[in-house]
Amino acid sequence: MESFFLWSMVVTVCSAIFLSYFIKFRRHQKQDISRKQEAISLGADKPLAQYPLIDVIKCIGCATCVKACPEQEVLGIVFGKSTVINGLKCIGHGKCADACPVGAITVGLGDVKDRDDIPVMNEFNETVIPNLYIAGELGGFALIKNAISQGTMVIDRIAAIPQRSKDPEIKDVLIVGAGPSGMSAALNAVKHKLSYLVLDQQGAGGTILQYPRKKIVLLQPVEIPLYGVLTKTEYSKEELLDIWLGLKKKYSLNIKAGVKVTNILKADNHLIVESQDGVFHARNVVLALGRRGTPRKLGVQGENSAKVMYKLIDAEAHQNENVLVVGGGDSAIEAASGLAFQGTNNVTLSYRKSQFFRLKKKNAERIQELIANGQVRAIMDSQVTEINEDSVYLDVKGRRGKLANDFVFVFAGGEPPFDLLKKMGVKFGGN
Ligand SMILES: Cc1cc2nc3c(=O)[nH]c(=O)nc-3n(C[C@H](O)[C@H](O)[C@H](O)COP(=O)(O)OP(=O)(O)OC[C@H]3O[C@@H](n4cnc5c(N)ncnc54)[C@H](O)[C@@H]3O)c2cc1C
Repeated sequence: MESFFLWSMVVTVCSAIFLSYFIKFRRHQKQDISRKQEAISLGADKPLAQYPLIDVIKCIGCATCVKACPEQEVLGIVFGKSTVINGLKCIGHGKCADACPVGAITVGLGDVKDRDDIPVMNEFNETVIPNLYIAGELGGFALIKNAISQGTMVIDRIAAIPQRSKDPEIKDVLIVGAGPSGMSAALNAVKHKLSYLVLDQQGAGGTILQYPRKKIVLLQPVEIPLYGVLTKTEYSKEELLDIWLGLKKKYSLNIKAGVKVTNILKADNHLIVESQDGVFHARNVVLALGRRGTPRKLGVQGENSAKVMYKLIDAEAHQNENVLVVGGGDSAIEAASGLAFQGTNNVTLSYRKSQFFRLKKKNAERIQELIANGQVRAIMDSQVTEINEDSVYLDVKGRRGKLANDFVFVFAGGEPPFDLLKKMGVKFGGN
């Protein structure tokens, strides 16, 4: 009798433990399925660069990879197998592959023949257009280490071809983009004594400039030309920028900021680079544009002022300000929320449509709450028409209104770089 009682206790406790795990597992799976559906509906499921390729036969659904991902939210478990849920957030660190106990994950681009966002290149990253090279994330591989290695490798290749430009108007190489890839290319051009010019629509630093303040950047050892090896595995955004900007100063790098390249054409013996700031000539061109694209502008008077920004990097730096956030997508809502949470800002959201749509559930709920509490004023059906030093003008259903304003944050989407490349004649995997 006693042993029957004991066994019943054991079975009950075991069943309770199993049941609680089962319920937890089912709950996580349900959440992951709905996250995946949400990501698909927002177009956020597809990765931009390299991503985890999961062998579903080997995968045991243990979720170690989900926990190992430094960006979080990228992976989830669906029907007992690891799945890419929010591919857009994947930076390609490969920590998931390192953590997987059964070796079910490799990190790569998948079948590039099916990818219409991966340019066709030879082993030196030269496109189908002779002397037009690609370096860094634009070629499909993210991470600063890859950007530096490719920027360096492409210039080694160009320097290995003995011909040099004799015409001072025609550079040996023109580099488009001053991110880690373009900057490494420029430093290597200095090392090889090539004549060069870097053009960037923003400024030196590339995507690193866009990271949130004090972000910890994970790195693998890599050598920057004329600097040496970056040996630490973690740098703060500010530390890393200091290195790049220090090198720019030390070698007086020939970088023209604020110049957007709009096309590249072939001439008899060189390439012609068209930009919003004139035309440039070079024997070789390295496209180091990254994959994040160009923020879409409003095209209104006053937009070029320094108070207009296309990214919120440090919400805490804004206190007691009149701020206008333009847009109705997730980025706009997240920025408006971040600014409103400071508690001292007067935050207005201007959106050209009559209601928000395709927002992440969390953001949709948050913005309704902030509007209801009076922390954000939303002006729907409105468009910015003019930006001045201390005010902005909006058109609201045909009526003109004026708001006091210190800063404008524009989230009107971006133009991916692929159309520009197609215009130049670069071929892609999917074509
Ligand atoms: C939030 C976030 C976190 C990340 N964290 C890490 C991390 O921890 N570790 C890591 O290794 N990587 C990280 N990455 C990835 C890393 O930032 C990129 O892989 C790297 O910056 C790519 O370098 P790149 O030089 O190829 O391009 P980018 O850094 O994107 O630079 C491209 C440059 O080209 C310019 N440009 C674009 N179009 C034009 C045009 N038409 N005319 C003129 N200029 C143009 C842009 O203004 C930009 O300056 C992160 C990325 C993001 C978004």
